[in-house]
Amino acid sequence: MDDTTSRSVVERARAVIPGGAQTGLRAQAYDLGEVAFSESSGPTLETVDGEEFTDYHLAFGPIVLGHGHPAVDDAAKATIDDGVLYGAATTALEVEVAERVVDLLPSAEMVNFCNSGTEATYHAIRLARAYTGNDRVLKFEGCYHGWHDYVDISVYPPRERVGETHPESDGMLPEAVDHTEVLPFNDAEAVVEAFAEFDDIGAVICEPIPHSVDCLVPDEGFLETLRETTAENDVPLIFDEVITGFRHSARGMQHELGVTPDLTALAKAMGNGYPVAAVCGREDLMAQAGGDNTSGVVISGTYSGHPVGLAAASETLRVLSAEPVIEEITALGERYREGLDGLFSEHGIEGRVVGYGSVFSPQFGVTGEPQRYEDVLGLDEERFVAFARGMRERGHFFTPNPYKRQHLSWAHGEAELETYLAAADAVLGS
Ligand code: PMP
Repeated sequence: MDDTTSRSVVERARAVIPGGAQTGLRAQAYDLGEVAFSESSGPTLETVDGEEFTDYHLAFGPIVLGHGHPAVDDAAKATIDDGVLYGAATTALEVEVAERVVDLLPSAEMVNFCNSGTEATYHAIRLARAYTGNDRVLKFEGCYHGWHDYVDISVYPPRERVGETHPESDGMLPEAVDHTEVLPFNDAEAVVEAFAEFDDIGAVICEPIPHSVDCLVPDEGFLETLRETTAENDVPLIFDEVITGFRHSARGMQHELGVTPDLTALAKAMGNGYPVAAVCGREDLMAQAGGDNTSGVVISGTYSGHPVGLAAASETLRVLSAEPVIEEITALGERYREGLDGLFSEHGIEGRVVGYGSVFSPQFGVTGEPQRYEDVLGLDEERFVAFARGMRERGHFFTPNPYKRQHLSWAHGEAELETYLAAADAVLGS
């Protein structure tokens, strides 16, 4: 008899994997009961126990077309049959995907591939520092750009550390923290003041729509000021489009907002779940990496430009360009937000529903439009966890972290919307 259950898998995981999952954020799923997944398809996840959930987690966002999109998976499988890894010279596939990215993103003149968003932001900052010869990185509170020491700072600072530089992890290099300046999002004046105060700014990095704290929307003029001020000072502006790129627009959020950064970090939706990421940008900045790995900017990685990830990216970008994916998931996102909003009113719940495009998140105990990280700090975490528990019990999966948004894919539709709102009605009314 097969005695493999979610509980037994998680028990074994706890003995051999720190925290029982690959990251602390993944392990948070166990707060609502042990789950171990074995299959996924379209909008659905299945556990080893055969329990099914509609997936609103979507792996923290990459699954934009739905799990197991046939064209993407077929392209990946065909590539495996042809040859998995060369790790020397180039491939036609690599060139084709780079050309596609250059065609799509306003900021992209040249492209380097890697395998994660963390690598992409690391490369971007190194390129910017090399160009300016300056060390200080300017970032915004509440923005996550990956786990490396240059940026894992003031993503979720406790209230008493707001406005300071707050390392998110033990073991980080103090010098990296010292060389970081953290500003509130949407504060254009603070950006101008920082440039007046510091003459050693080497890079400015920003999520155009910060989704690391559910969702902050840029005020009119904020990103424009960021663009103007960085240009005046000849400091590269990096947009971290790891979540927004290929989810909110096939051409990047930069295209929708009409603000073109100097460098862009891409990952997540680029490969519909396959590990592929990129840094792209201005030719003179990117060309610094064109040396022989003993001079200029070193960008390297055994698996960079991995054919399987690139095959998935090629197909994902083709589908996103040819089909009305973004329009449809954006319209559906609007209906989830409206539906939840209506239920909040109906049940007299104090709160708000934030989001953009195919991303949404109910926030309890806070009202008004959040402008910056501090505005999210007061939300009722316990109430969110209770909501997530009720939804999980009714077959809807998302992580019980109140700062982690829910996502939609092209495989979600009317049926999912209806069952989600019916479940939310029951949970919010109970
Ligand atoms: N930037 C943003 C905006 C992200 O959301 C993430 C991942 N959540 C990263 C960078 C890091 O990407 P990865 O996990 O692929 O390293």
